[in-house]
Amino acid sequence: MQRYKTKQINVGGVLVGGDAPVSVQSMTFSKTHDIKSTVEQIKRLQIAGCDIVRVAVPDLKDANALKKIKSQISIPLVADIHFNYRLALIAAEVADCIRINPGNIGSKERVKEVVKACKERNIPIRIGINGGSLEKEFEQKYGATPKGMVESALYNIKYLEDLGFTDIKVSLKASNAARTVEAYRMLRPLVEYPFHLGVTEAGTLFHSTIKSSIALGSLLLEGIGDTMRVSITGELEEEIRVAKAILKDSGRTNDGVNIVSCPTCGRIQADLVTAVKEIEEKTAHIKAPLNISVMGCVVNAIGEAKEADVAIAYGKGSGLIIKKGEVVAKLKEKELVERFLEEIEKESLNG
Ligand code: SF4
Repeated sequence: MQRYKTKQINVGGVLVGGDAPVSVQSMTFSKTHDIKSTVEQIKRLQIAGCDIVRVAVPDLKDANALKKIKSQISIPLVADIHFNYRLALIAAEVADCIRINPGNIGSKERVKEVVKACKERNIPIRIGINGGSLEKEFEQKYGATPKGMVESALYNIKYLEDLGFTDIKVSLKASNAARTVEAYRMLRPLVEYPFHLGVTEAGTLFHSTIKSSIALGSLLLEGIGDTMRVSITGELEEEIRVAKAILKDSGRTNDGVNIVSCPTCGRIQADLVTAVKEIEEKTAHIKAPLNISVMGCVVNAIGEAKEADVAIAYGKGSGLIIKKGEVVAKLKEKELVERFLEEIEKESLNG
């Protein structure tokens, strides 16, 4: 599926939209004014593969902390602001992007000042529509529906466009996968701005993975989406891991190892579950695009192995290592994983 052609913007050196790769974002959960914890969390996210990080700026002390935070990190920083234009002005001096909804920042004069500050530093604004907090007029007219979210987005976009500002990206998050998808689909043909995808308040690792895979996966398969966040009530790194997997499985990136493994059945005569777990952990660092398969018996193993760069076909107490469809070794079960991992490493260097 071809990707929607969107306007490209620059978030602190990371290009968003156009033909730029779909970037992965996350957000810290520390109090932003706790500089040490915030920087620590940002560094953890960066190591996990986060491209852009957002921090909440609910207070003056949070806004004042941004400068020090920015000086200690090396990925773009987005400041998330609601209602208070003074905080937006402070953030605009330091951050690489600010997330505001002009409609809730106050008078037009105040929005004008924020826009002027962003223009001066050449930083974009993310309009972040959230189904649960629409402006009163849209809430009353449409409720928390995709139509209400789209109307709110158009209103906020126009607000900025009327001030001559078009360095914009837009998100339309709902806590429900279907509503999220519908809102993004509705808005996509109406504007050229890049979209930040996400399901908001998506829940725990289990629930968020499912909701985000359905919503973000569907949109990405339709060519919609330029940057994304998977929101998880849980560990920071999980957000990045799930986001990267969604990107990979929706064909938006082919970086890293794609593991095909069978679910096992009554034919199996080996401990495949433990083997796959070990293989997944020990190949997580690989960036090269590789297809590997781990199959419990020869029934489907040979067919899968033909598609794989490296494969294992388990048998009774032993198994085959297959590379590009050719059997390269027959080993005892306990020797298989180690050799398999060696072959994967070699293959990743070739790629
Ligand atoms: S590959 Fe073999 S063990 Fe695995 S699910 Fe298929 S038939 Fe069962």
